[in-house]
Amino acid sequence: MPSSADPLSLHGRVAFVTGAGRGIGAATARALAGAGAAVMALDREAPTVDAVAAELRAAGAEAESAAVDVTDDGAVRAAVERTMARWGRLDVLVNNAGIVRDATLAKVSDADWALTLDVNLRAAMACARAVVPHMRAAGRGRILSASSVVARSGNFGQSAYVASKAGIIGLTRVWARELGPHGITANAVAPGFIDTPMLESIPAVYREQAVARIPAGRTGRPEEVAAVYLFLASDLAAFMNGAVVGVDGGQLL
Ligand code: NAD
Repeated sequence: MPSSADPLSLHGRVAFVTGAGRGIGAATARALAGAGAAVMALDREAPTVDAVAAELRAAGAEAESAAVDVTDDGAVRAAVERTMARWGRLDVLVNNAGIVRDATLAKVSDADWALTLDVNLRAAMACARAVVPHMRAAGRGRILSASSVVARSGNFGQSAYVASKAGIIGLTRVWARELGPHGITANAVAPGFIDTPMLESIPAVYREQAVARIPAGRTGRPEEVAAVYLFLASDLAAFMNGAVVGVDGGQLL
């Protein structure tokens, strides 16, 4: 765990991480807690997110969990209020919860289109709206959101997912301009192919084709994305605002 003199230290800070039950979100909760932050871990899956928070506490961190669907604005606001009641501050929002519902333009259902945009994009806006009043009152804050390499490249069969992840880049740039004068920065992380349960939903043949195009010659690990979230949450990234940081092994080159 870094000392409080370490520029990567998050001692005394409080982070609110969505989709923290597994994958990149769980790795990010671990990284932020490992740097000293208290963590409110949210996920729609209660057992997994409770287990992550218990693991963080067992490792000596302060952590709570909330079984919340991020598309439920009232539940998100209640979790934010619980965070404020518990720790009295909220410094870092990580908009990580996300889903994929792949289908081509011809085949994507209205329901899957709407759900993907709701979870990946609208909920990020709702989470930001819930935390920003507290960040503005404190005169500081970090909003970090999950985009994707495909927001820039496009991808076959991913109209809804790509639209949502490109939307995250747009929101991040708007928030950077609107909130920067109030001491709040907004940055996006654009992972490439990262080994998580989400990647397992992609057929093996497409995964192999994609890995063949990655100069690193491999998929990434959730911890390699979490390290970038940690950096962006830290004082070292104070002058980064509106950035989209790729973590893709060179896939977009
Ligand atoms: P994952 O599917 O392994 O984990 C996502 C987590 O979000 C799960 O715990 C899930 O329960 C939770 N979640 C989903 N919908 C939710 C909702 N409505 N409310 C609350 N929680 C919800 O995914 P991951 O690979 O860890 O991806 C994390 C983020 O990174 C996502 O936004 C994803 O789009 C993005 N991303 C992932 C990759 C990759 O290759 N894995 C690449 C680019 C971007």
